[in-house]
Amino acid sequence: MRREALAAPGEAGAGENASKCRNRPLVASEIVALVVQKYGGTSVGDPERIKAVADHIARTRRAGDDVVVTVSAMGKSTDDLIRLAQEVSHTPNVREMDMLLTAGERISMALVSMAVNDLGVPAVSFTGSQAGIVTDTQHGRARIVEVKGDRIREAVADGKVAIVAGFQGVSTAKEIVTLGRGASDLTALALAHVLGADACEIYTDVEGVYTADPRIVPNARKLARVSLDEMLEMAATGGRVLMLRSVEFARKYGVRIHVRSSFTWAPGTWVEEASEMESMEQAIISGVTHDTSEAKVTIEQVPDQPGVAGKLFRALADAGCNVDMIVQNVSTEGHTDISFTLPKDDLSSAHEVMQRVLGAVGAKQYRSDLDVGRVSLIGAGMKSHPGVAATMFETLAREGINIEMISTSTIRISCVVAEADVERAVQALHDEFKLGQV
Ligand code: ADP
Ligand code: ASP
Ligand code: MG
Repeated sequence: MRREALAAPGEAGAGENASKCRNRPLVASEIVALVVQKYGGTSVGDPERIKAVADHIARTRRAGDDVVVTVSAMGKSTDDLIRLAQEVSHTPNVREMDMLLTAGERISMALVSMAVNDLGVPAVSFTGSQAGIVTDTQHGRARIVEVKGDRIREAVADGKVAIVAGFQGVSTAKEIVTLGRGASDLTALALAHVLGADACEIYTDVEGVYTADPRIVPNARKLARVSLDEMLEMAATGGRVLMLRSVEFARKYGVRIHVRSSFTWAPGTWVEEASEMESMEQAIISGVTHDTSEAKVTIEQVPDQPGVAGKLFRALADAGCNVDMIVQNVSTEGHTDISFTLPKDDLSSAHEVMQRVLGAVGAKQYRSDLDVGRVSLIGAGMKSHPGVAATMFETLAREGINIEMISTSTIRISCVVAEADVERAVQALHDEFKLGQV
């Protein structure tokens, strides 16, 4: 492994500097091992778990590696803090919400640091702001623009384990911000890249990335490897073991990820660029994912004219609605229906937009449906194997499950179905494609 002081690009760009620095010849004194480890909420959920994690960190350090750690808030404490805010305010102020939520990670970073120090290994904790994680100004879902990391480098150079609070940073307006739900993964990946670690270990409560969520498919199989392209599709369609933006970051900057368990410490899943040989031998399907966090909106009787979809979706985009799947029906008598999905959390903004623009574009009415879920098949091998979609639709039909929407990419097929049918659909597809078998 090798570690260098790199320029520090953010999520949005400036990767060039980093790769230029990488190509510079290294001197012997620069070649040291550095590992970035991230521990999720369950992994640091109580004092016993924190001590187990501290023990693992101390062992890694004693084995000779430099260690930088990122932690999530303990257990479900972020959800608890959100509930608390809602008890005191109907519409919690976004700035204060970020002040509140960042406290969760601050608690775990301090506790983990204390526990590591107790084992005789020097450790020091830092907030996102102290670590130099600089973001844009969007409270609640800030994007990283730069990672300075100076204090982390100094701590590591002093022989200390640096423990960084995940999920947070400081904006260009000097405000404390959060990076979005599940974003401790992103903190870890950004640090791994900027510090030049050649792998980032994501410790969680399952042993890796599975062929389906092991909590709903008992015979789901742990994958030894998964390509970044497939992981991106998995994360985008509900495989929440890695946050989507963290996978995007890893793909952009070429960081290798090892997803593994902080309960068994067994080797987990390597998420990395697939070699050409591996792509050739790619299994047809790598996994089935599901997502029940989205709602469906159908706009009826939209005039079938140029510019109408542009106006509708521009208004939705301007209101910050994260529109996902879009389906337009065939036109009858100059009118058509348009359906789309978006996160349930964005539905109230979408309602406001609809009320404002529906009349203006001449559409009749709209309805929204919360009782939907999405089931997706992911696999790089499906590119060269026709018939996967047909088998998927036949399997759902056999289960009596109605398909409401379909969307595809070269390595994914997604169907929107009733929320109540989602788990049955995942299990049936997992069986049909024999994903539990090696
Ligand atoms: P952490 O708190 O460690 O970040 P998360 O809850 O965000 O953990 O992610 C781990 C969870 O992801 C697992 O408990 C599992 O239920 C869920 N999950 C969903 N799909 C998958 C999958 N394909 N493979 C592994 N875990 C999955
Ligand atoms: N604690 C934050 C959340 O629950 C961040 C994370 O766990 O990654 O979303
Ligand atoms: Mg997570």
